[in-house]
Amino acid sequence: MNNFRYRLARLFAGRTGVDALGRTFTWIALILMLVTMITHSNIAYLLAMACIIYSVWRMFSKNYQKRYFENQMFLQKTAKIRGFFMRLTPNIRNSFAKARYEMDQRRTYKIFKCPSCKQKLRVPRGRGKIQVTCNRCRTQFIKKV
Ligand SMILES: [Zn+2]
Repeated sequence: MNNFRYRLARLFAGRTGVDALGRTFTWIALILMLVTMITHSNIAYLLAMACIIYSVWRMFSKNYQKRYFENQMFLQKTAKIRGFFMRLTPNIRNSFAKARYEMDQRRTYKIFKCPSCKQKLRVPRGRGKIQVTCNRCRTQFIKKV
């Protein structure tokens, strides 16, 4: 095992290895593979292969200074796009968390509106007929929960 690790380290010594640009090409290749499976397009297949070959070639390239420069250029040019996705990700995560929270609320509480002031009220489920007092207008009414 140690020997294997040593040989692996030797193999990558002085080579570029996996960087952002290489990773992006690997992802593009995977997406193109998916496109190939769906559309059976030869062009998508060839592009996928090209992307794989390019990312592997980058990984083993010994001219790591040039590869490093390419990677920096890539990061610079895609800064805006990456920033956009970075900002988008927390929003998506937040709305998922919010939807889950609301689903939990719906399961444990019955949510309804006050008949007189339309204030949203919630009452724990499964208590049968109970008297509810609106916390805004103090109207009392009977509700089955
Ligand atoms: Zn009310």
